[in-house]
Amino acid sequence: MGLWNQLRLLVVAKHTQALLRGVLSLLATALPLVGCSSGLLVGEQGSNPAADDADDAFGEPRPTKLEPGGVTSFSGELRDAGEVDVWDLGTVEPGTRLDVELQGFGANFSIGLFDQDYLVRMISHDRYNSKDPRAILHVAQRMEGMLLVVASDPFEASTGPYTVQVTQSTDAEVILPGTQTVVLNFSGGSFVSIGSVTIPQVTPFDAANLHPDWSEFTTPMKDIVMDSMRRVYDGLNVEFYFSDDPQAPRGGVTTVYFGAEDSNNVGLAATIDYGNRNKEHNAIVYTRNFAKYIPYGYTYRDLAQGFANVAAHELGHLLGLNHSDLPLDVMNVSPTVDALVAPQYFSEEARLSPATFPVGQQDGAELIFETVGGEWSRVVLARDNSASLYAASSFTSRTQTAQQLPVDSAAELSSARYCTSDEDN
Ligand SMILES: [Zn+2]
Repeated sequence: MGLWNQLRLLVVAKHTQALLRGVLSLLATALPLVGCSSGLLVGEQGSNPAADDADDAFGEPRPTKLEPGGVTSFSGELRDAGEVDVWDLGTVEPGTRLDVELQGFGANFSIGLFDQDYLVRMISHDRYNSKDPRAILHVAQRMEGMLLVVASDPFEASTGPYTVQVTQSTDAEVILPGTQTVVLNFSGGSFVSIGSVTIPQVTPFDAANLHPDWSEFTTPMKDIVMDSMRRVYDGLNVEFYFSDDPQAPRGGVTTVYFGAEDSNNVGLAATIDYGNRNKEHNAIVYTRNFAKYIPYGYTYRDLAQGFANVAAHELGHLLGLNHSDLPLDVMNVSPTVDALVAPQYFSEEARLSPATFPVGQQDGAELIFETVGGEWSRVVLARDNSASLYAASSFTSRTQTAQQLPVDSAAELSSARYCTSDEDN
């Protein structure tokens, strides 16, 4: 029972149950940690505890001490693609800005920053072969034991040595929680930019384009989307308007478009905006992609619920969330159409998608709550809603095939991590 274990016992009550379950689930699901890491501190500590390789599990992180206001470097090696190296950065105070750069010497590595409960704060991928993964985290709340985890890229297994450089500034601006205004745009647009992707033309949403008999369902579908978005974000300071609402603010808003079609994804967000530092982003729900589910018996209500789930998911990215592995969680990449059209909510504890990061969990509800503020007692959590998924899974009108119909092809699922168009934060 070392210091770390004692710290774990000091977590606030709200997290205690989640933590215990998290530890159990980590024990049950951790990737095989083959081989060991030979972390070598080359920073201010200057020591070389090469025999100490206790840094490859969440429970026994390698302590390293950040130099206040300075630069700390440390090196290690991933000898196996399934290995993770965990570094304990110690207590980080509000107002701290951590600028983390990882050099993998040609390898494809990801870095994750986690709090003392193994809950993710930020993940930076070596995406698009940039070979220069960098993460900047603005810390708004004191963290007793921030963990930095180095892992192989989930899609491009990689091994080798690495050096992490952490630049710590202690006078960064603390961004207080602030309301996000979101406009739901069913009216179309030209040259709609979603991060680095530009869609030349988004035609106005018309349910008749999904099915010829659905011409009267355009407004009901929009209303289902609005109601569902407001339910998912209930208790969180996120306000929704239709774009054609005269009351809708014109500036300082994030816009979610509904329309168009894509060969890969059902939705796209501009980026993962940790801490919501930019309140003017775009996202899109590719509504036409849903038409192919109609022959399996899915109704306009089902599809509208699916639109809302995808919209809530893309907005989740814009508020700083990554993909989770929990089917009922908004941030899951829904594995089946039944899951896609079932009511979804944010989860307090969802394992990160293995396609995102091999270890750790995400408390999507609290991350958004910290980011925008709100009234916690009103937030509806995914686990409160488990019965409805099972109900949705048992539609008798659907064939077994339809229930198992995947949302995307296998190739699309493997690219689902790219449902954010860039990562330049
Ligand atoms: Zn996504």
